[in-house]
Amino acid sequence: MKSDKWPPEDSEAKPDGVPAETAEELKKKTDEQRGKFEHIFGDLQVAGERLVGENQELQGHATIDALTGIRNRRGFEETLHTATAGFFTPEAERRGESEKGIEHITIGLFDVDHFKDFNDKYGHQVGDRVLQAVAQHLSSIGRGSDIVARWGGEEFAFAWPGANEKAVLQKFGMDLKRGQNARIEIPKIKIDDQEFEITISGGLSTFPHKPDFEGAVEAAYGDADKALYAAKKAGRNRIMSLTEEMPTPEE
Ligand code: GH3
Ligand code: MG
Ligand code: MG
Repeated sequence: MKSDKWPPEDSEAKPDGVPAETAEELKKKTDEQRGKFEHIFGDLQVAGERLVGENQELQGHATIDALTGIRNRRGFEETLHTATAGFFTPEAERRGESEKGIEHITIGLFDVDHFKDFNDKYGHQVGDRVLQAVAQHLSSIGRGSDIVARWGGEEFAFAWPGANEKAVLQKFGMDLKRGQNARIEIPKIKIDDQEFEITISGGLSTFPHKPDFEGAVEAAYGDADKALYAAKKAGRNRIMSLTEEMPTPEE
């Protein structure tokens, strides 16, 4: 009859249950296991670092416009938000001043004139190259804290922290006394030995130091859009604002 006795008589285990291994064998096994763990840990670290890198790249894609390489609308809004963080705080409001000493932000929305006709005439691919050139030019005229983005389609956005509409209009050549319109000249665009000329229209809106930051930005987008519409109606190839006194449009 089979015995139920444990451990069985032929077991290598000692009567007190300790396996018959020497301290040295145990140490060797432990070292082997540690080596394996270190290897796995190293692999995990490498994979983790790669994930962080890929994540950063994805975030970049989410805020950069693929065609032009400048910020997209999300990138614009995020940058504007970061640039103005702490700008409209209740403390600054109580002191009657903004924390950074900036009292205004001006937002500009710009739209390429008659771009549908341009595409119809020269083709979508040439149109794409033109949008790239416009993005490049707008980026080149943006300085320091200016924020430039492709808003969508053939529309671009600008933000000038610290500048009011009048300052921006003067920057782009509006002379209120001489009744000249402000405009952004886009240099001739050369594509495969052919030169193209386009014009853009723009609308500006300034929002002052206010505690309701989000509300102020939303209102500014709406006003800039209305001013852009007014610029289109007034004959295109000009920048307008709703609040600054506008000279009579040039014919
Ligand atoms: P307006 O002066 O009133 O702005 O006239 P418009 O023709 O520019 O305006 P509309 O809104 O009628 O047409 C916009 C055109 O922009 C139509 C569309 O094909 C073109 N467009 C938008 N996004 C792109 C793009 O990524 N590439 C190209 N090539 N064209 C684009
Ligand atoms: Mg448009
Ligand atoms: Mg257009």
